[in-house]
Amino acid sequence: MDQPTFVIVGAGQAGARAAMELRRQHFEGRIVLIGDEPHMPYERPPLSKQVLWNPDECQPGILPRGFERETGIVLMSGVAVQALDLRRHALTLADGNQLVYDKLLLATGARARRLPLLDRLGAGVHTLRTLDEARALAASLRRARRVAIVGGGVIGLEVASSAVELGVEATVIEQADAVMARNAPAVLSRYLESVHRQRGVALLTGRRLVDARRDGDAFALILDDGTEVRAETVVYGVGAEPNVELARDAGLAVGNGIVVDANCRTSDADVFAAGDNTCQWDTWTARHVRRETWENANRQAETAVSAMLGHTPALGGVPWFWTDQYGMNIQFAGDMQAPTWVVRGTLDDPAFVLCGLQGETLTGAVTVNRGQDMRSLKDLIAMRAAVGPEVLTDSTQNLRALAKRLQETV
Ligand SMILES: Cc1cc2nc3c(=O)[nH]c(=O)nc-3n(C[C@H](O)[C@H](O)[C@H](O)COP(=O)(O)OP(=O)(O)OC[C@H]3O[C@@H](n4cnc5c(N)ncnc54)[C@H](O)[C@@H]3O)c2cc1C
Repeated sequence: MDQPTFVIVGAGQAGARAAMELRRQHFEGRIVLIGDEPHMPYERPPLSKQVLWNPDECQPGILPRGFERETGIVLMSGVAVQALDLRRHALTLADGNQLVYDKLLLATGARARRLPLLDRLGAGVHTLRTLDEARALAASLRRARRVAIVGGGVIGLEVASSAVELGVEATVIEQADAVMARNAPAVLSRYLESVHRQRGVALLTGRRLVDARRDGDAFALILDDGTEVRAETVVYGVGAEPNVELARDAGLAVGNGIVVDANCRTSDADVFAAGDNTCQWDTWTARHVRRETWENANRQAETAVSAMLGHTPALGGVPWFWTDQYGMNIQFAGDMQAPTWVVRGTLDDPAFVLCGLQGETLTGAVTVNRGQDMRSLKDLIAMRAAVGPEVLTDSTQNLRALAKRLQETV
């Protein structure tokens, strides 16, 4: 009998990981990995950090050298998939060719959200999602004296931090009253704001962009309180939109992302989706959530592959992501909307932990330069351990020993 063909659309984090995972889980059929970018699959986290500092040296590839020979995976780069026919199990490629699949994984990721006000300004205004965009921004930052970043989320703050390290004056414009308001507790937002201000970043929170124009060599951005921000380089940091068009046009269920079940299966039994393009039921928050993190892309890729092969996928772990700013490593696990947050250590230390509690139960945690505690914190969150604030803030209590002790009692 002919070996089956599994096709993966999107050769980013989830797609590349899934291709390798298929072989790791002993799939012997044909694997075709199709990506519309002209590069080998690469990691995106370095785009706002190392690539901006060292655009010529940083090569954030995902797949090992020689993988095609070793694994037989067929990589088609620079080829967009234009249409999906669920009934015929067929894809139409941009070059007009058709490709038939037995099972399909959609790993199409997301694209940077744009603002019409800035779009009309032309060159010098940058989105940051792809390697080419990161290289263009790196070149622009080298020519600029000032950069204005619209949006104070993770990407906006990482770009501000990288710009400062390159000697560029940074202004961040954020319409919410706090930076990272969507995915960090208020105590961390305030901490980050003070760190950025100490480094000389002009942080304009609670203000909205209402107009923008080119003015000689610079841009002038006008805010709703009349403030005018001038900069030679402007960066969009206003979030990302999932690439769902292929799925939606084919008739798959789509909400804020392609709707998938716990096994990453879409509304069609032979089509799966993984990564930034998915919207999945989340047991932590009891709602459908679209996560845009490196860990989610890898975890969903593994889950999807297990399900495509008819294996039982491992249960999803505690959601986790990180950001690096000014040499600080900040990691986040679990629910960032926990109602109560306590500090383990003090905010004046270079390293500390924030613990998020729902009553006595640890439901979320943030480590600042204390990545070594993350494993134990994730274990405690996964157990929904009722440890209470007194224990968590007591630095003499060893978190690893505490997690181990509790694990033995459940
Ligand atoms: C600048 C930046 C910094 C980040 N930093 C961090 C960090 O510090 N920590 C963290 O946890 N996460 C970080 N992330 C998030 C993380 O990189 C993403 O969550 C992850 O890349 C998502 O993987 P993905 O495979 O879903 O999407 P992607 O990696 O975006 O890959 C999707 C690929 O599919 C391609 N594609 C789309 N449509 C088609 C089509 N029709 N045909 C063919 N190809 C198609 C796209 O062009 C793209 O190449 C960062 C992201 C960015 C942009």
